[in-house]
Amino acid sequence: MTKRVYIETVGCQMNVLDSELIVSGLVQAGYELVDSPRNADTILYNTCSVRQHAEDKIYSALGRLRPLKERKPQTIIGVLGCMAQKDQDLIFRRAGHVDLVVGPGQLNRLPAILEEVAAQQHREPRLEVSLDRMKERRTLVEESFARFDPPRPRELRSSPFQAMVRIMFGCDKFCTYCIVPKVRGPEQSRPAAEIVAEVRRLADDGCLEVTLLGQTVNSYKDPGEGRILRLADLLARLNEIDGLRRIKFVTNYPRHMTDDLLQAVRDLPKVSPYLHVPVQSGSNEQLKRMKRGYTVESYCEMIQRTRSIVPDAAITSDFIVGFCGETDDDFQKSLDLVRWARFKNSFIFKYSQRPGTKAADAMPDDVPDEVKRRRNNELLAVQNTISLEDNLPLAGREVEVLVEGPSKAARKRASGQHVPAVDDEVVQLVGRSVRDHIVVFDGPRTLVGQILPVRIEKADAFTLFGRL
Ligand code: SAM
Ligand code: SF4
Repeated sequence: MTKRVYIETVGCQMNVLDSELIVSGLVQAGYELVDSPRNADTILYNTCSVRQHAEDKIYSALGRLRPLKERKPQTIIGVLGCMAQKDQDLIFRRAGHVDLVVGPGQLNRLPAILEEVAAQQHREPRLEVSLDRMKERRTLVEESFARFDPPRPRELRSSPFQAMVRIMFGCDKFCTYCIVPKVRGPEQSRPAAEIVAEVRRLADDGCLEVTLLGQTVNSYKDPGEGRILRLADLLARLNEIDGLRRIKFVTNYPRHMTDDLLQAVRDLPKVSPYLHVPVQSGSNEQLKRMKRGYTVESYCEMIQRTRSIVPDAAITSDFIVGFCGETDDDFQKSLDLVRWARFKNSFIFKYSQRPGTKAADAMPDDVPDEVKRRRNNELLAVQNTISLEDNLPLAGREVEVLVEGPSKAARKRASGQHVPAVDDEVVQLVGRSVRDHIVVFDGPRTLVGQILPVRIEKADAFTLFGRL
């Protein structure tokens, strides 16, 4: 009998990639992917612990599954990923109907674990997580975070012409607010030869764009092959791959934005001039408390260097507002930095205290939620004004767009119609430029997966609207 699996994913691109790899592995093991927990006999949540909100979402989703589990006790319910590694047994205590909890370092064994759980007469809660890096030797902990990058057949990838490719695991930075180093384990780079082989396979399969993933992607370091290979070396090798058209990489750590990397972005035609380099705060006091390892001045120097080497670079950032001890004056400095740096866009987060981090242990979460919310809105408003000002002059220009598919609006419209979609019907399409601008225009679905010039006619802060 076919086994039917439902999976829901919360969190960053790394989690989206993990879910794609999980689904690919399970389909190859004979599972069918279904789009509702009600139709599934295996229900999986691939989780995130970066902010409390992401965890709350999962615990309420698990709560909603209780009646289903009572009706169909054979259904397997699994919690995977970062929250599994962080909360471990606590998940069974808070949601007794969960059957398995599998950390990000154990995902390679998921099909086997599921099979074992399904075969049990009397199910015991199954916990599969990596070692605690605060308690064990680094080499042992590294081994306990098993690599998970199996090959993906073309038909099982979420897009045939775009793919995410992991080049690094874990993180060693230990920013005081952040749970990632604990739940994703020690920083480890994937061998360059393996990455090149994967990207070559993807390109041979028709993939036009790859996005390389790592928590601090620009600290990539492969000691193999006689000399240490850095991200710039890896980009040079990937740039040679026939058929591949675009290479993006996220997320950059400000201190590792070296000249050789910026020159690679400038000189390698396939590397997109899109650089996500989160600063987190515009105040040196806050950066110190966050243990970010740079000052506002050195960050600004990096931005100036980036703009002088790659003049057309689109630079984006992340900010945390309301981190421990943030005063109005500290916050003003974040506003000043956004005005000065003119980021293409910024992701802004309210500080969320994470048990197990240095900040949770040693610093009071002393900015009231109301103040966090106000600062979030204020910073976003300033950023949006800048994004709009920088997007408006793009009207009249032509940008190359990789067409990703029908826009959200077009998909919604199509789902309300009871006639099948026709390929040459003109719909609203959406795609992205090399500078990561979202571009919306009308065209037939047959254009999906092509790289085309689009003339921009108007713009708002988030989207460019154009014509083929
Ligand atoms: N490694 C990346 C970096 O250093 O920029 C990003 C990793 S994290 C998943 C993505 C973003 O979440 C961070 O840049 C930060 O702005 C935000 N973040 C991390 N921990 C947070 C916390 N405890 N509360 C609020 N935002 C947080
Ligand atoms: Fe978290 Fe800092 Fe590592 Fe990014 S660099 S994952 S914010 S600890």
